[in-house]
Amino acid sequence: MNYQKVKGTQDFFNQQVLKYRYLEEVMTSLVKKFGYREIITPIFENTEVFVRGVGDETDIVKKEMYTFKDKGNRFVTLRPEGTAAVVRSFLENKMYVNTNLTKLYYFGPMFRYERPQAGRFRQFSQFGIEAFGDSSPLLDADVINSAFQIIKKLGISNIVLKINTIGDFASRQNYAKALKEYFRPQIQSFCEDCQSRLDRNPLRILDCKVDQNQPLVRQAPQINDYLTDEAKTYFSQVLGILDVLQIPYEVTPTLVRGLDYYTDTVFEFVIKSTDETNNLTLCGGGKYSDLIKSFGGPDLPGIGYAFGIERLMTILDEQDLMPDFSQNADVVIIGLDQIAKTVSLELATHLRLAGYVVEIDYRNTSMKPQFRLAETKNARFIIIIGEEELQNNTYTIKNTILKTQVSIAQSDIFKYLKENQK
Ligand code: ATP
Ligand code: MG
Repeated sequence: MNYQKVKGTQDFFNQQVLKYRYLEEVMTSLVKKFGYREIITPIFENTEVFVRGVGDETDIVKKEMYTFKDKGNRFVTLRPEGTAAVVRSFLENKMYVNTNLTKLYYFGPMFRYERPQAGRFRQFSQFGIEAFGDSSPLLDADVINSAFQIIKKLGISNIVLKINTIGDFASRQNYAKALKEYFRPQIQSFCEDCQSRLDRNPLRILDCKVDQNQPLVRQAPQINDYLTDEAKTYFSQVLGILDVLQIPYEVTPTLVRGLDYYTDTVFEFVIKSTDETNNLTLCGGGKYSDLIKSFGGPDLPGIGYAFGIERLMTILDEQDLMPDFSQNADVVIIGLDQIAKTVSLELATHLRLAGYVVEIDYRNTSMKPQFRLAETKNARFIIIIGEEELQNNTYTIKNTILKTQVSIAQSDIFKYLKENQK
């Protein structure tokens, strides 16, 4: 074999594909009930969209983007996340003109140049939602609610909602300054990434995978002391609504999230491991008051989240939550000579268009291998077409559940299947 997939990518087939599509169906049908509509944006954008939209101090922009120059000497980037592209499209298409609130969802592949490991790929898929135009604790809570309902519907257990507020831009600047002063004398004892984060993005030190359990991190100044009264009130309103909706949460002062554009509410749904360092984040999101404006658009707030599909697929396996999707056939048609085989293909087409899953054996005309096919496909009905059936315009039908066999007129086939379905 000469070719292998690119490092950090995956092929999905058989059960994996069923899982992938099952997740897509559960998630998208649920958020449609919340009034979200699908948006499909290109898989690549002009690089500035992500530099601006994700923030040039973030890990994503600093080291994870697949950026290249196209043949017209333009820098383009394979999308590393969904929000920036959705905001770009929202503005470019002036979706805000006739409505105060725009609710969108997306589902598809993202690309990040990261070190591949469990739950971390270079191509992975996200499902996410964005709501633009409203700044209300009710909306924040309802966005979180939709993620919570997805998790509930999937049946996932052992999961916690971690939530925090990082306040407005001014509060965060004050906080960042305090963190810099606090960490600077000891920064040598932190990982290399954190050393470079000190000046450009000190909040990120708080949720560093390597250093998060350092006592220095645990005792660091807390955002709460730097919040304005408005930010505190807003956050307690969000929590109050979550209480009413009976959505459990853990307020987590060190949760700051990776992207630069968040303000106020930030949250993650995390699968708890016995040892805290291996917690697996399934979904992350938050509110971003300034992102749309920073794109040159109107002063509208946004809020959203994204689930990682591959991580969800792993959890479905681990918690044994995948419904049993049989790929059984309703009908297998057995043709006993070449003419019968052609006729069976015609019948198969009629039945398929009427909604039945129908399989035929293209190769064999003898009974045995064709019955074997019916067995492996767990066929409910076996229709047999031989010389006699062709002459008399009949079909012989075996009902494999009732273990009966009858001969019926060809024209009665739909009636027979319908009556024997239960
Ligand atoms: P992390 O801190 O784990 O790197 P992140 O902050 O980069 O996460 P987000 O950008 O918020 O993650 O993405 C939302 C979700 O997408 C994550 O919670 C995760 O489930 C999934 N995700 C992110 N990066 C990857 C990846 N490289 N491979 C697989 N899934 C990913
Ligand atoms: Mg990341």
